Amino acid sequence: MELISRQDVKDTIKHKPFSLIDERILMNTIDSIPTVEERKESEWIILKEPTGGLPKRWRVKCPVCRKTLRIRDKELWEFCPCCGTKMGKK
Ligand SMILES: [Zn+2]
Repeated sequence: MELISRQDVKDTIKHKPFSLIDERILMNTIDSIPTVEERKESEWIILKEPTGGLPKRWRVKCPVCRKTLRIRDKELWEFCPCCGTKMGKK
């Protein structure tokens, strides 16, 4: 996916020879276009590591949305299920 800056598009349009009405229509159109936020990347804050026994239980915190989660999987989740942040491995 290619991401562009809404403000850069507006700045470019301001320097083109559009009528004021056309420019206003273009600016309103640009403001109404849905956006996506670039996916954040971070690492889990491990609050509690598994202590023997099965299933292994982790208690982790997402540093972006600050949600605390209990995880039973063998490996930590690749993405925060609350905010979608991609988690790297330490
Ligand atoms: Zn999160």
